[in-house]
Amino acid sequence: MKHIRKCILLLICLLTASAGLSACSSKEEQKQDVTQTEKQMNTDKNFSAAAKKLQPVKVTDTAFTRLSRTELQISWSDSLNPYVTEYAVLRKEAAQSDWNTVITLHSDGESLGRTLAVTDTLPDDSMHQYFYRVDVTAASPDKYTGEAGEEIPATNLIICIDPGHFEGKNAITSDNLAYAEGDFNLSLASELEQTLKNNYGISSKLTRSTGSITIGGYKDQQLDSSHISLRGEFSENCDLFVSLHTNANLENAGGSPTEQQPISINKPIIFVNSAALDDPTALRIANEIGSRLAEASFDKGLSTTRTFRTAGAEDVLEWTDAYNDSRNKEGTVCKRTGTNGDYYGVLRGASNVQVPGLIIEHGFHTVPEVRQAAVNEDLKNVWSKADAEGIAAGFGLLENE
Ligand SMILES: [Zn+2]
Repeated sequence: MKHIRKCILLLICLLTASAGLSACSSKEEQKQDVTQTEKQMNTDKNFSAAAKKLQPVKVTDTAFTRLSRTELQISWSDSLNPYVTEYAVLRKEAAQSDWNTVITLHSDGESLGRTLAVTDTLPDDSMHQYFYRVDVTAASPDKYTGEAGEEIPATNLIICIDPGHFEGKNAITSDNLAYAEGDFNLSLASELEQTLKNNYGISSKLTRSTGSITIGGYKDQQLDSSHISLRGEFSENCDLFVSLHTNANLENAGGSPTEQQPISINKPIIFVNSAALDDPTALRIANEIGSRLAEASFDKGLSTTRTFRTAGAEDVLEWTDAYNDSRNKEGTVCKRTGTNGDYYGVLRGASNVQVPGLIIEHGFHTVPEVRQAAVNEDLKNVWSKADAEGIAAGFGLLENE
């Protein structure tokens, strides 16, 4: 037993020797050491007190702009210039842990309301998702301490979002909720745009960002009828086109008044265009969005089934009124073929410019509970989150945490 204790003591001596401690010294030495330790502790106290006074300097306003498929611009304000000698723009690949310096910039010490920006050129035009942050070297190390900047996601993807119809279109007047599909679609679109950018680094362009829409000299009603394909063609060079809608049914479907339908009719229906049918990523996105919408609506008590019938290119359903108006049925991915290809003009327009396109029928605005949730609750957040997550999942992107 004693032998073991000696061995342990020796081991402790060996271990502490390298750390400069004195566990095995004489009493006299120990006394000195205590004094030294106390001194050291006091110094440490002073040092930590000083350290506490150091002001953290951190870049928290980093933003990204997609300039092109191969150029991402990272920007931040010059407000920290007086406290910083140098900025380092760092980048890491999504799902990896190594940060690499893209470029370093010297601060001129002045805060003049300018935007500092650097352009990162990507190795190629295939899909990329990165995370960026801007770190700083503090100007006066005795006063300031540089901290790692806030991380933002960035991709070279761009989505065209079409808020269906225009202001006031498909207004429900049989109750006093003042629901209009054209208005709700716009609020869904702006939520979706923000979520895609902030959470995944996906950029968007919108066919309209106000109640009114103008493309190629045409307006509102024209772009909702004879020239509707221009909305889809607006997505040229985008990675995806999504037209956001809420659904309706035939007059008095199932024997209930048209706008007093039961929640059992409610389900998401995702239409794919012919370009999307040929694109596994777009089909995956359609299925991912539909599945999430089905869950979201069920969880809010707005439908009777939480499942969604997913489909591959071979078993995408040809849409019918009967399926649309069916009750207690799962939502699914649909196609609708007309005499000139895609039946719906918006989807045909996207196909015309070789962009995979979806019409997202989020749910039925002919159900009073849905209108109630849209007008008075957070339905636009819940549904746009499902859209954003579905798009990101389909592309295989990570969420910023
Ligand atoms: Zn619509």
